[in-house]
Amino acid sequence: MIPERRSRRIRIRDLAVGGDAPIAVQSMAATPTTDVAGTLRQVRLLEAAGADLIRVAVDSKRDVEALREIRAETDAILSVDLQENYRLAELVAPLVDKLRYNPGHLHHHERDKSIEDKVRYLVEVARAHDCAMRIGVNAGSVAPEYKERFGGDHIGAIVQCAADHCAMVDAEEFADYVVSIKDSDPKVVIDANLRFHEMRPDVPLHLGVTEAGMPPDGVIKTRIAFEQLLSRGVGDTLRVSLTVPFDDKGMEIAVGRELIEDIAAGRFRSVPPNFFDGLNIIACPSCSRVENTAFIELAEEVKRATEYAADHDLTIAVMGCRVNGPGETDDADLGLWCGPKQVHLKRGEELVGAFGYGEVIARLRDELDALIAAREAAPRS
Ligand code: SF4
Repeated sequence: MIPERRSRRIRIRDLAVGGDAPIAVQSMAATPTTDVAGTLRQVRLLEAAGADLIRVAVDSKRDVEALREIRAETDAILSVDLQENYRLAELVAPLVDKLRYNPGHLHHHERDKSIEDKVRYLVEVARAHDCAMRIGVNAGSVAPEYKERFGGDHIGAIVQCAADHCAMVDAEEFADYVVSIKDSDPKVVIDANLRFHEMRPDVPLHLGVTEAGMPPDGVIKTRIAFEQLLSRGVGDTLRVSLTVPFDDKGMEIAVGRELIEDIAAGRFRSVPPNFFDGLNIIACPSCSRVENTAFIELAEEVKRATEYAADHDLTIAVMGCRVNGPGETDDADLGLWCGPKQVHLKRGEELVGAFGYGEVIARLRDELDALIAAREAAPRS
């Protein structure tokens, strides 16, 4: 049930992606990169689970030095997430096989330099070190110029951003790249990837539902997107993003392979039309930026403590760091983003306060109760 794919075949070291190559399954280390032993453990655990490609993130020169130590200890095919500091590319490219940049993060540094010049720099670095690239568009960090141009047309903004960046990379005559367009809503992932694929069927796609959250909901959301995309021949590599304890990260690979096998065999699982009704908890899968590993337990505790509100159409977002946490919680009714010792609780875009890990759940429930009461008191239109 997975038809022939129309994308071109690219190479990430000796891994073929796209065209008639098998769909590659990948994941990411959830630990701070400077925790060399912990990150190596993640790499080995993911390799043992059958990962084709493993991503780590770098934010600083300290991360680069840690990555150097990690590279010396493993032969795994490594991809690096450049996060906001794209200038680190020239330092990490000799150590990895693929560079991922986020078009929504290129404006943070060297503001007087054009986006085209920054992309040209990244391509030159990738080419010099025989790295592939990923243009990784994320709904939580849309580049400001696309927000302005597209206003409320969120999908139009992320699709056009991806297409424009492909044109910039094409202009440098560089072909070994993939594109990802991710969102926490599987319906947006389906729509955006289909629209992009219509425009650029030649570009291999990396699929994922970001911040899908904890199993089983995180698996179901991912399955919804992958069934609709892979069955149309859209998608060449994928990542299942789950909020699970670090030692269980191999689950992301196992679930990814199972989804591919099921879809190839025609074993589709439909979901009832009301699957998206009620309380929606989104949670990040953790990465090198996570500030306190208690974040995973907190996400699980949020799920347990809010079960009583399951029938209410509300979204709670739980994020693991101060860098992406504040922005990625803006669209949720209630958001929590975690620092080293405190968790910041938000109501929409407004900060309610910062609380200890042990006290935030009670405050979250107070806010949730108040939201539910306010909705029930509001006159019905
Ligand atoms: S929210 Fe922060 S910790 Fe979580 S995946 Fe995103 S960058 Fe990593």
